[in-house]
Amino acid sequence: MKPMLKKLAGLVLLAVSCCATAHATPLTILVSIDGMRPDYLERGVTPNLNRLAAGGARAVAMRPSFPSITFPNHYTLVTGLRPDHHGVVDNNMDDAEIPGVRFSMDNPAAVTDRRWWDQAEPVWVTAELHGIRSGTLFWPGSEAAIHGVRPTVAPPFDSKHPAVVRVDRLLSWLGRANVEPLGFATLYLDDVDHAGHTFGPDSGQTTRAVARIDQAIGQLIDGLAKRHLGANIVIVSDHGMAPVSAERVVRMDRLLPEGSYRKVVSGPYAGMEAMPGREDQLAAALLKPQDHMQCWRKGELPARLAYGHNARVPAFICLADTGWMLTFNDKALGKGGAHGYDNVAPEMGAIFIATGPAFKPGVVLPAFDNVDVYPLLMRLLNLEPLPSDGDITPLLPALAP
Ligand SMILES: [Zn+2]
Repeated sequence: MKPMLKKLAGLVLLAVSCCATAHATPLTILVSIDGMRPDYLERGVTPNLNRLAAGGARAVAMRPSFPSITFPNHYTLVTGLRPDHHGVVDNNMDDAEIPGVRFSMDNPAAVTDRRWWDQAEPVWVTAELHGIRSGTLFWPGSEAAIHGVRPTVAPPFDSKHPAVVRVDRLLSWLGRANVEPLGFATLYLDDVDHAGHTFGPDSGQTTRAVARIDQAIGQLIDGLAKRHLGANIVIVSDHGMAPVSAERVVRMDRLLPEGSYRKVVSGPYAGMEAMPGREDQLAAALLKPQDHMQCWRKGELPARLAYGHNARVPAFICLADTGWMLTFNDKALGKGGAHGYDNVAPEMGAIFIATGPAFKPGVVLPAFDNVDVYPLLMRLLNLEPLPSDGDITPLLPALAP
């Protein structure tokens, strides 16, 4: 077939599959409340979330993937792959195959560069390829053309957007006359994480941030009702939060021979590369019993962490005991809260609430892994899930027959 004809035939096929699928699929909204712990729902400030949980399904807790930090887990939620398998192994990354660029969450040139994301295919890319339109009111990865595809609507991340403005903006995309409806939408809310970091998970400020976010969720539910839009809503978080203290700090720079390493990441876990010719010296300093942390070569982490085989993971990883911080200078002393610890630590637990026509009311699920959210989202969208680390089985009791 001539290239042009082939292109046209593809377009026709796409158009046919587009409208047939889009009309048959009810809207699915995936909401992330960054840093929201399950026990925050018991502080008496979340009437809307608790009502949704009672009218649908919730998990006692959801286990994040390691490392229990934001970008890796957001990409896990929409791909079903552990960070080691989807390639977004950290909020800050180096990759020898992408020389001269450091990936970081707040570097627009990096987050929009598909090479960092192309090791996996998120829900919205598969959805768009099947004619289901998607809109992302922020989600890590949504600003890159992953496999050449972007969500239909995907404004660039703006941290200054208050939660209520985000909800209004999302609602403005829905229920519009003469516009092909969205089948999949995401909403990302970060107030709870910010308060947890700055003031700690047990602070009044964090509780007030939880209350604010709960009001935004109420606004979303009211807005959907006003537009007579039935939707399946899946509300998750990416990780929890642990209190940290200046009394619980390990000074890595004082333990390691000067000039033997390059720090890649620090905090609840640390990542280091050896300087040329200094690997044995660095290994000898790290790979022995340590107070308040454990260290491994990247390929030797415990299998349950499912981490360390991706080329982007640094050569040595140390994981602090929950509540401890690994630092390389005296600037970053622990205060407030942190996450990134062992993904089975109770403080790192995340929330899962699902409501809408696809879910039974009043279901409480035992804790499950966050890789299992992906096959659920694909089921809600009537799409075949790609191979992943997730399994829908733990979530089946939540689904209406
Ligand atoms: Zn986060």
